[in-house]
Amino acid sequence: MARSWLDYKSPAWVQWCPGCGDFGILNSIYRALAELNLDPEKLVVVGGIGCSGRTTFYVKGSNAHALHGRAIPLATGIKLARPELTVIVSAGDGDLLGIGGGHFVALGRRNVDITVLLHNNAVYGLTKGQAAPTLPAWVQTKALAHPNIHDNVNPVLLAFASGYTFIARGYAYHTNQLKELIKAAIRHRGAALVDILQPCPTYNNIMTNKWYEERIYYVDQEDPSYDPVIRTPEDYKTKMPKIMEKLMEFGDRIPLGILYWNQTKEPLEDRLEKLMPGYKAAPPGTRRISVKGKPFLHPFDVFKDRVIEVP
Ligand code: SF4
Repeated sequence: MARSWLDYKSPAWVQWCPGCGDFGILNSIYRALAELNLDPEKLVVVGGIGCSGRTTFYVKGSNAHALHGRAIPLATGIKLARPELTVIVSAGDGDLLGIGGGHFVALGRRNVDITVLLHNNAVYGLTKGQAAPTLPAWVQTKALAHPNIHDNVNPVLLAFASGYTFIARGYAYHTNQLKELIKAAIRHRGAALVDILQPCPTYNNIMTNKWYEERIYYVDQEDPSYDPVIRTPEDYKTKMPKIMEKLMEFGDRIPLGILYWNQTKEPLEDRLEKLMPGYKAAPPGTRRISVKGKPFLHPFDVFKDRVIEVP
């Protein structure tokens, strides 16, 4: 059964400021899910704290809104308990790279099959515009008493260093291109990051649509020979210099598109299957737990013949 984007739209009223980049991201998510024809019952969107976290209210799915900085560990637990589900993290730069920075790194190291959509507007919008870890040094947005004196984190470079196997960057107002990046990230088996540049018209009066449009460009349009896909160890030697150049570039020019795609690494779920044969056929989230020989209550009796014994 083919689905339309309306099959993923919840009845909740969307509450963001007029012109917020979150609208473009939400639109791209709806259409990506529809084009992939994913079953909403097998979809989980985990949100962080911040304006972007409200995505979990607006997309139909078995969603969860995590504590500040904890979207990734919650999503990891869900994915490992039920590996057949499609799990997406939708959170902001402050949540994922500030308080949740350690978890952001851990996801790459583990290469869990989760898609991270990083809403990157360089400010903490929900709490009135403080500097987020992605705000460049010496930029003074309107809520700051002084220019920002800290250097900015480059999310795509951090993701590469952490072990993410799919890394892309999109722009919230370019919804057609962003939709394609989200689709590719969801299809990828492993930790995937889409760093989404997003104007916050309410608090970031410097990094506006004009600011971004003067800087962004698509790597494949500028150089059709750009190939981000690593399929063999040999590819590391031949392709990495150019890929590193694109991952590091952020300033007067900002590259968009799929920047790095490593197809040589297996996701954590495959490694768990090797360690525990049968893990995928009967994952922990579909089993009943028995503690010291006594059945531990489980809401679904269909799992009664799949028992995990806890001594
Ligand atoms: Fe969007 Fe900024 Fe308003 Fe939050 S404060 S909803 S990020 S425009």
